[in-house]
Amino acid sequence: MDPNKSGEIQECRRCGRMFYFTGVGKCICASCKAEDEAEFESVKNYIYENLSATIMQTSKDTGVKISRIKSFLRDGRLVIPDGSAVFLNCEVCGANIKFGRLCRECADTLSKEMKQQLQVDEFQIGEKPKSSDSARMRFLDRS
Ligand SMILES: [Zn+2]
Ligand SMILES: [Zn+2]
Repeated sequence: MDPNKSGEIQECRRCGRMFYFTGVGKCICASCKAEDEAEFESVKNYIYENLSATIMQTSKDTGVKISRIKSFLRDGRLVIPDGSAVFLNCEVCGANIKFGRLCRECADTLSKEMKQQLQVDEFQIGEKPKSSDSARMRFLDRS
């Protein structure tokens, strides 16, 4: 490691302990990172094994906070499998999406400047689940 390059003592964003941050990834200490990885793995395994579980059920059974699960999804790190009951909602239209913060349609409609304002990156634009029968029904009702 080059001591002249980045890297400095920082406060862990999660537990507040001081640690040596290399400048790569999230500003959290090694023990929080390990905990984060473990939580991520258990949530991921759980939703792939229990497709009918909601986000609430997932949180209850894995012991991982709902806010933490949502942040995995918003970061685009965790992708909801097809047929799962866990969904996020598009921040603009409220449609179910599998990860991220916006659905593709809203992302396409929003101008570049708006996306910058909302701080939405490409990876935060989520797909809608494939079996969107309810969405199709709603569309039919309106026409
Ligand atoms: Zn920490
Ligand atoms: Zn949308």
